[in-house]
Amino acid sequence: MTLQTKVLICGAGPTGLMMACQLKRFGVDCMVIDSKPGIVKESRALAVQARTLQIYEQMGIADKALEQGTAANKIKIIVNGHRVYEVPLQQLGLGQSAYAFLFVLEQNKNEKILYDHLKEIGGDVLWEHSLETFTQNNEGVIAIADNNSGEQIQIKADWLIGADGAKSQVRHQLQLPFRGGTYENIFIVADTAAEWPWGHDCLSVCLTAKGFAGLFPMRGDNRFRLIGTFPKQFIPSEVTDFSQIQKVVQEQIKVDVNFTGTNWFSVYHVHHRSVNSFAHGKIFLAGDAAHVHSPAGGQGMNTGLQDTYNLAWKLALVVNGQADAALLNSYNEERLPVAKQLVKTTDRAFSVITSDNWFLKIVRLHIVPPLLSRVLAIKKFGRFAFRAVSQIGINYSKSILSYSEHNNLLQAGSLVPFVKINSKIIDEHLKFNGFTILLFDTLLRDDQKQDIQNSFFVKFEFLDVIKNEINEEAFKKFKVKTSALFLIRPDNYIGFSSETIALADLKKYLIEKIKLAVKPL
Ligand SMILES: Cc1cc2nc3c(=O)[nH]c(=O)nc-3n(C[C@H](O)[C@H](O)[C@H](O)COP(=O)(O)OP(=O)(O)OC[C@H]3O[C@@H](n4cnc5c(N)ncnc54)[C@H](O)[C@@H]3O)c2cc1C
Repeated sequence: MTLQTKVLICGAGPTGLMMACQLKRFGVDCMVIDSKPGIVKESRALAVQARTLQIYEQMGIADKALEQGTAANKIKIIVNGHRVYEVPLQQLGLGQSAYAFLFVLEQNKNEKILYDHLKEIGGDVLWEHSLETFTQNNEGVIAIADNNSGEQIQIKADWLIGADGAKSQVRHQLQLPFRGGTYENIFIVADTAAEWPWGHDCLSVCLTAKGFAGLFPMRGDNRFRLIGTFPKQFIPSEVTDFSQIQKVVQEQIKVDVNFTGTNWFSVYHVHHRSVNSFAHGKIFLAGDAAHVHSPAGGQGMNTGLQDTYNLAWKLALVVNGQADAALLNSYNEERLPVAKQLVKTTDRAFSVITSDNWFLKIVRLHIVPPLLSRVLAIKKFGRFAFRAVSQIGINYSKSILSYSEHNNLLQAGSLVPFVKINSKIIDEHLKFNGFTILLFDTLLRDDQKQDIQNSFFVKFEFLDVIKNEINEEAFKKFKVKTSALFLIRPDNYIGFSSETIALADLKKYLIEKIKLAVKPL
């Protein structure tokens, strides 16, 4: 049997499901295959960052996520079981996002929400189909998938997305190096319950000379996700149940607490690796297939979601004949540095919280906790930390797609700031699947708007931001003194900005940078 599609997505984890949802949103025919019989059963990743919730909101699924998860409003760092340092997350994120907290929702629940949404908008997943092999040429890809009973199907596609996780078959067949390493320490993860002395409204990080444990609050009475270092006196292959090591874990974190009702337990190695390019001809890698890192900071799942959110609108423009394929170069250009930086920073953080080195132990127990709670109490640093961890601070200012005519405006390549425009949160205005032109005290005539709309095959919306009391903060956050024009990409990043009505320059930008196809006169 031969099937045909525009985009074949290999893997229906969070990354692949987001890709499919976004492609459908832009009207692109795509097919998702996955070896498993359905969405993942284990809870796995569970931190959902503010940027992901913003994207969920744009997709109309944020409420579903919010009603199933739990918010952690602060981090408590507990040293040697008794010294407690607090980091108030709400304060750090205040005014920067509607989601100024750490949201905890298990990966399987995120996947279920994404999968349900995909089905609602007309998509599905071909479960129990494993990608075996593929060939590519200038026209596209021919893939062979096995239906797990040994029957093979051929799938012809113009593009292939490798969203097939850390052991990616797509990456292996392309023979791409996955450089990095594996941490010496082994880790445990358990979904469990406890009468936790430091409460259920926070992320608790326990640090001792013997290691660390993090307790994330989960939905349900006293339910927590525990992650931590595997006690060295045990042999990993012999530990199949949390009860076998529970006592030692308690001693390790120096907290006298009883864990009960564990419903998921796993022992695992943590890797830090990344490919050198996300793009290979007609094939793109995303999520764990392209980068893996420590769970420090709860970035893993979110980064995969962001990868495909970045790629989907670009690929949709190309597949729909609205832009040249050269636009796709910006996917690697924008996302590879994010992955590399993430691997580097989570590596540093993880080394400090897990190392057996005497100096790093001193840093872990005596320097980091007081320093962190004091430094983050300083508004500027606290805001910076929230932006970094929540992923709202990810910036594509060095991208070929970012062009500012005047440097005093909010930089092109920035995500739109969290602000109200005409009394509505900006994200509310940016839910449609085209480009938005924000006009600060700069009224365009109808014929000027028509000229832009008629020049290209994509949709534009125009949003007037009149200078008045209601929009004062918007002028401030976009750094506009008198007037300005901003082009907002479909992923809500600023592409182009100018202090004048530089329509000729805007069109030049759309043609030369975004590579939009021009309508014949
Ligand atoms: C035990 C465990 C705990 C974790 N804890 C955390 C955490 O606390 N915080 C965090 O941020 N991250 C955590 N992670 C990592 C997190 O789960 C990943 O970052 C996230 O799943 C990446 O999503 P993905 O869609 O890119 O890949 P995956 O979720 O791995 O999805 C890949 C999909 O591809 C499918 N697939 C693979 N090969 C093929 C093939 N040949 N053909 C068809 N389909 C294929 C798989 O079945 C799978 O469904 C954890 C991971 C594990 C395993």
